[in-house]
Amino acid sequence: MAHVKFFSGEQVPLEMHKVRIVQKLNLVPVEQRLEAITEAGNNTFLLQNKDVFMDMLTDSGVNAMSDQQQAAMMIADDSYAGSATYTRLERKLNEIFGMDYFLPTHQGRACENILAQTLVTQGSVVPMNYHFTTTKAHITLNGGMVEEIISDKGLEVVSAHPFKGDMDVAKLEAIVAKHGADKIAFVRMEAGTNLIGGQPISLQNLTDIRRVCDAHNLLLVLDASLLADNLYFLKQREESCKALSIREITRKMADLCDVIYFSARKLGCARGGGICIRSKALYEKMRGLVPLYEGFLTYGGMSVREMEALTVGLDETMDEDMISQGPQFIAYMVDELQKHGVPVITPAGGLGCHIDVMRFLDHIPQSQYPAGAIASALYIVSGVRGMERGTLSEQRDPDGTEPMANMELLRLAMPRRVFTLSQVKYVVDRLVWLYQNRSLIGGLQFTEEPAILRFFYGRLAPVSDWQQNLVAKFRADFGDSL
Ligand SMILES: *Cc1c(COP(=O)(O)O)cnc(C)c1O
Repeated sequence: MAHVKFFSGEQVPLEMHKVRIVQKLNLVPVEQRLEAITEAGNNTFLLQNKDVFMDMLTDSGVNAMSDQQQAAMMIADDSYAGSATYTRLERKLNEIFGMDYFLPTHQGRACENILAQTLVTQGSVVPMNYHFTTTKAHITLNGGMVEEIISDKGLEVVSAHPFKGDMDVAKLEAIVAKHGADKIAFVRMEAGTNLIGGQPISLQNLTDIRRVCDAHNLLLVLDASLLADNLYFLKQREESCKALSIREITRKMADLCDVIYFSARKLGCARGGGICIRSKALYEKMRGLVPLYEGFLTYGGMSVREMEALTVGLDETMDEDMISQGPQFIAYMVDELQKHGVPVITPAGGLGCHIDVMRFLDHIPQSQYPAGAIASALYIVSGVRGMERGTLSEQRDPDGTEPMANMELLRLAMPRRVFTLSQVKYVVDRLVWLYQNRSLIGGLQFTEEPAILRFFYGRLAPVSDWQQNLVAKFRADFGDSL
């Protein structure tokens, strides 16, 4: 965003866009919210949108499109093969990332399916800075194993470290030595990291990882789903990037990688995904899976309208004004919560604001899913839908034991250009109230636990009548207010 100084001294993020289409929101009374979350099995994924006031579940496929994106959708060239729309998308990706080959997919996890089926075999190892739910699932389904080697600083919840997403280079060396280079399917870097608070990686770290990959002849794969935020942070925080344009920073990152894949539900503010590949041989190895799982090679499951919107969205990602709104709103929210003593992950990252639930609810054991409990509690007291990112989001080990997550987070995603600052203030207000009443919140237990990706559609119940007590306190404090 432009550097605009406020005369009053109060510095708030100033939107460099205007709103021209609006959607009416519903805020139902607290008693109805308790009913809705009970019906949803205390899983915010299962809430109905009519019961949700601010949807902060995700930034996936819900970012506001620009007028230019909408306009481009009208000129989409609809054909099964040889579409001009596809050619525009392919050219744009080539211009931005400089890779010769592209495979379109219907979303990010489809890229992971193709990568894992092509590169992962029984006994493969995939070192990564941090895993993402669907990434890990695809790797393990194909018989591989994830080695998570985020630098120790990455898991410090309160920190001033600018690049908490960095991989530990020494640990990568150790893993190559332990398993042998031929067991490593690829090295995966996520920029920025989804599950640990949208924390970015540095260009220096990516350069160091490339050096290790070169020494052992390893493929370096970048998950660029959350690249827009990461680019903003590189420009703001890394000395060597300050004088570079967003476009130049992007190319420096891309030049270090062999493969870049992304979810276009995030990158490019559209829907879809794709894999950019440097080597022809690797492209040919993966190509056959696209018609099998996605669609023909010139659409890969995407609609032509989405591909047009994506092409423009990718170009807009190269504009600092366009990509700074999200991180600046998140930083505002994190600062306000910190002023009121609410425990949050610092420094502010991309994607959303992350509440540190281990500190917020230090009376609830991890086995009772504190991050799920707070997601349920926040919905009850505000109508705001967040997402559990803790033990519930982990999968059980093959022997049935339940690993406890490194962090228990409530993620409040900030879809780009969707909320106003007063709405952000409302969430802060209700979170501050909830923090002061945190002793009322209790744990959750499963009533239905699916074997795969259980957080998506598992159902839970409170371990006591704590939710009724929370509603009663809300009424006592807020009267007949919504
Ligand atoms: C969302 C996401 C994915 C998966 O993308 P989908 O489009 O949701 O399938 C993969 N990696 C990261 C880092 C993500 O944030």
